[in-house]
Amino acid sequence: MSGNQGLLERYARVAGAEAVAQMQQLAEKLRGARVVHVNSTAYGGGVAEILHSMVPLMKALGLEVSWEVIQGPPEFFEVTKKFHHALQGRRVDLTEDHLRLYQEVNQKEAERLADKLSEADFVIIHDPQPAYLIRYLPKRRGYWIWRCHIDLSRPFYPVWRFLEKVIVQYHASIYSMPEFSQPLPHPQYIIPPSIDPFSEKNRELAPEEVFRILKDLGLDPSRRLVVQISRFDPFKDPLGVMRAAELAQKFISFQLVLAGGGAADDPEGERVYQEVVRAARGKKDIYVFKLPPEAHRVVNALQRAADIVLQKSLREGFGLTVTEAMWKGKPVIGGATGGIRTQVVNHHTGFLVNTPEGAALRIRYLLFYEEKRREMGLKAREFVRQNFLITRHVRDYLALMLSVCMGSPDRLELETGEACVWPPVEPGPPPL
Ligand code: UDP
Repeated sequence: MSGNQGLLERYARVAGAEAVAQMQQLAEKLRGARVVHVNSTAYGGGVAEILHSMVPLMKALGLEVSWEVIQGPPEFFEVTKKFHHALQGRRVDLTEDHLRLYQEVNQKEAERLADKLSEADFVIIHDPQPAYLIRYLPKRRGYWIWRCHIDLSRPFYPVWRFLEKVIVQYHASIYSMPEFSQPLPHPQYIIPPSIDPFSEKNRELAPEEVFRILKDLGLDPSRRLVVQISRFDPFKDPLGVMRAAELAQKFISFQLVLAGGGAADDPEGERVYQEVVRAARGKKDIYVFKLPPEAHRVVNALQRAADIVLQKSLREGFGLTVTEAMWKGKPVIGGATGGIRTQVVNHHTGFLVNTPEGAALRIRYLLFYEEKRREMGLKAREFVRQNFLITRHVRDYLALMLSVCMGSPDRLELETGEACVWPPVEPGPPPL
């Protein structure tokens, strides 16, 4: 059995043979297609997490896939973090100089990556950081797709207008939820993200391993545990989580862990982390851990050891931490926002909350009723198995690529024997 076949069979055992067969059927039409993913960090955050699994799986299906990470000075990432906040609805000050720097880095990176990007059959650009590459590659031949991972439902319009100038040049764009799409002159697709059940973050761990990791962190494995794993970012509301825990701890005893690391493209993390550490100082049973980017096993162990996982975000593109926790059979108390609402089916796979008080109430309830926790956790795992595993995600990408190159956004004819056409018949942007 080839390595690729072995990999696919492993996925079939968890996700079901049907899920793998569907991917294979679609991939057959795309065999040999050159696909390049571009994002802005190799580690930290959900996009890098997905690409680490998606790239090998697409390769195993017979596509030629590579992953490029754009580089830039720290000031560039300061600017793109402002973009990120603005697109999620916050008013930001972006000066002409900021926009110039953003464009200059994109231009320089377009030159560095020109050969690969101009030759690719499909270029998938993730998020706003590398979105302007397209502008500086007029000789491109393939299909360009913009994949937006953030909550674009209520953007701060001056920044969206700036970005939109190039997004219209893409052949298609992808969002995690329908609410995030914008009026654009090309087909838009809704594809929620996913997790890889075999990654270090999600694979099964022996109970002794979980126990040891907890001990090493200075936690008491015999006591109740509530966890939020997140980058230290104001939108993840770490202070709100702390407030919720303190309210609930008046009635029921448990340890709260707020754990997270940074991402190379997120310069704000250290400041927020310091703020959280200050707020937690002197508080019993509240633990704040800064994790290195490769701490996947620690994240896995914390999620497995938790009685409840929180993700009390105020805005959230999707929230892979929610998916990861659900896959481990945990009920999630999540902020009623963005992609968390697709995953947490209120009262079934967890609870949706809007305030620290609401979160506190749900923590008390779930810690009190063990049977309820177990029942919700089981439903949560099955919900992820059916909807949010990497196999479904890759299938959707392949279907999208086929529909873009067959020129039919809403119907795929797999049985006609018709081949996919690349490069595009009409290179360049779709008609406005
Ligand atoms: N993550 C991690 N270490 C951390 C914080 C987060 O490995 O210290 C991972 C987390 O497990 C998840 C991803 O980074 O896989 C975060 O994705 P999510 O969609 O939750 O949020 P984002 O950071 O992309 O806003």
